[in-house]
Amino acid sequence: MMSDVRIWLDRLSSLHKSQMRKAACAAGMQLVHLEILQYLSMCNRYSNTAQALGEYLGQTKGSLSQSLAFMEEAGYIERKPDPVDRRYARLFLTKEGKALLKRIDSGKILAPDFPEDDAAVEMIQRLLSDWQSHNGLKSFGQCKSCRFNKTVDGGRSQCMLTGEALSKSDVRKICREHEFSSTASAPLS
Ligand code: SF4
Repeated sequence: MMSDVRIWLDRLSSLHKSQMRKAACAAGMQLVHLEILQYLSMCNRYSNTAQALGEYLGQTKGSLSQSLAFMEEAGYIERKPDPVDRRYARLFLTKEGKALLKRIDSGKILAPDFPEDDAAVEMIQRLLSDWQSHNGLKSFGQCKSCRFNKTVDGGRSQCMLTGEALSKSDVRKICREHEFSSTASAPLS
């Protein structure tokens, strides 16, 4: 018998997927194209690669290549060489990509503006953390729940994995290297 939590989780996820598909269709694109736009609007500077995108969406880099080419040709995303290692490409939303996502989002098709509720966020985080660690998947969380995020002098945030400073906007983005801190990943009782 399915637990109540799983029933509601299934409904939430199917509703989100169907609303995403509807919004993508209205914009003349496929679901995966909208998922690419959304991911690139949320991810941080360590996570904007085709590989990280594939991991997030559960697809191989190869299977995403046509969709990325379509989005690039349509002018919604662009590739730039990594500033440190120019063999790698970084993906960015263009002005047109940002404007399209804003138009879609403003229709509240994807999701309403849920009120910030710390208890609800913590509950969802724990469910996700359990599920992902059970399946060996990356968490793709935000810095604020990551074990590598440390507050340093002056109250600033710093990533102890990369040694780089994190701005207020950085800490709200999702990251491929994220690992839940032990309190956030404690199993649900
Ligand atoms: S603190 Fe964690 S989530 Fe933030 S950039 Fe570093 S590894 Fe990524």
